[in-house]
Amino acid sequence: MDMLINGTAAPAADETWIEVTNPATGECIDRVPRGSKEEVNAAVEAADAAFGEWSKKTTRDRGLILYRAAELIRRDHKALAALLTREQGKPIRESTDEVRGCANIFEYYASIAGLPAGETVTLGKAGDCLVTRVPLGVCAAIIPWNMPVLIMGWKVGPAILAGNTLVLKPASTTPLTNLRIAGLMQEAGLPQGVLNVVTGPGETTGAALVQHPRVKKISFTGDCATGHRIREMTKDHLKVLTLELGGSDPMIVMADADIPKAIEGALRGRFYNAGQICTAVKRLYLHEKIAEEFMRLLTAKAESLTVGNGLSPGTDMGPLNSAEQLGRINSVVSETIGRDEGVIRTGGYPLTGSGYSKGFFYKPTLITDVAPDAALLTNEIFGPVLPVVTVPDLGAAIREANRSKYGLGASVWTKDISTVKRVYDEVNAGIIWVNRHLIVPPEVPFGGTNESGVGRENGSKALDSYTQSKTMYLGW
Ligand code: NAD
Repeated sequence: MDMLINGTAAPAADETWIEVTNPATGECIDRVPRGSKEEVNAAVEAADAAFGEWSKKTTRDRGLILYRAAELIRRDHKALAALLTREQGKPIRESTDEVRGCANIFEYYASIAGLPAGETVTLGKAGDCLVTRVPLGVCAAIIPWNMPVLIMGWKVGPAILAGNTLVLKPASTTPLTNLRIAGLMQEAGLPQGVLNVVTGPGETTGAALVQHPRVKKISFTGDCATGHRIREMTKDHLKVLTLELGGSDPMIVMADADIPKAIEGALRGRFYNAGQICTAVKRLYLHEKIAEEFMRLLTAKAESLTVGNGLSPGTDMGPLNSAEQLGRINSVVSETIGRDEGVIRTGGYPLTGSGYSKGFFYKPTLITDVAPDAALLTNEIFGPVLPVVTVPDLGAAIREANRSKYGLGASVWTKDISTVKRVYDEVNAGIIWVNRHLIVPPEVPFGGTNESGVGRENGSKALDSYTQSKTMYLGW
């Protein structure tokens, strides 16, 4: 495997390296190369050279390597989780879940290795047809910083099981655990060139990768604007695109809901990973009959969350991933309040001083009385800030939910099956959760509508997106 891993040589110049910062302390913990165009070309060439042999292996043989990789990830899960917390910030419990989640994904794809079946078509006198699924060739996987290990699993698992080779570009703030897992895949027996990791900024390294003529498919997860840029950059090339973009998931709580359960759902849905999840609860719609009591209890819970270094036991919520991210969240809240577009119920400020070192911490925040066109409701808020809106009935909740340009996930909390059916039918989203939010098992297709992207990850169908059909006509 050609991996451009963090070297041991002294840095030649600032333009050659990217520093990786621990968001809980503001300290540099490592550095990775700023991959040049030549390095991207070398990675794509390595993937191209490996494709012939790899694509001819049986899916069973490829699946066995995924099984072994999952075993190694489980063996090293403590070290991997600690590394992930140090570069990303999330509490160690969440990092452990994520690392195990990646192993689960590899095992899931290994377990369905026999599935990518083709079909036969009988045409009577005209003959018979054999249709098989064949891999695409070199694929590119571009990863964000919020769930870098899980999303690596979503892309690497199906891509290599289907017989493709891959060049993966991690986010600049979280490349380390991705590199470590790529190393474990090598230890698991993945042949040279099948998985290549190139680190570097999106605008240069990422752009060179997506524009490379030999890259057949790009699986991108990240910001909506970047997704559009990638589509624009590749418009002359006919590449297969999977774009998993942002979300602004509504959570609708009706008067008949199990309130304690819904409060736990809102708390976890918004503050897990410091709110930096595409399918986090980003807008809360409460039926007016329960709104006041719900907010009293939710506020108490949000105020009791322990914010701190993800490595410290007892931390419920870590820092935001970067100073930029903290700045964005701080600005959107200040502007909302400055424009009189909402009222802070709790939080609304960065956490500094004793215990917070130079980290990027923000107080869990709830904002009520939010104006319908406030940025808090119309944009994706990628941090621990929850806008809350009171609605008179289900119709109003659905109308408000659908005012977003996104359509990733949504949840409804109720005991009434007709409410469930109406939300399922009428809310624009790729995923509707009922009495829960934020569960993404590897077996189930994941993805959104509208500006949340195109294509699906996870599930057996994700394998199809890494293959194309090839037909043999048999004229007897
Ligand atoms: P981002 O778009 O800034 O970066 C994502 C990746 O793309 C990074 O590796 C980055 O270096 C690269 N990149 C940036 N510009 C590029 C370019 N011009 N060409 C090629 N690559 C480029 O996103 P982010 O801030 O890292 O991630 C947060 C976003 O990701 C949020 O909007 C979130 O909702 C979304 N997200 C979506 C899903 C999903 O499955 N729908 C999952 C997780 C995160």
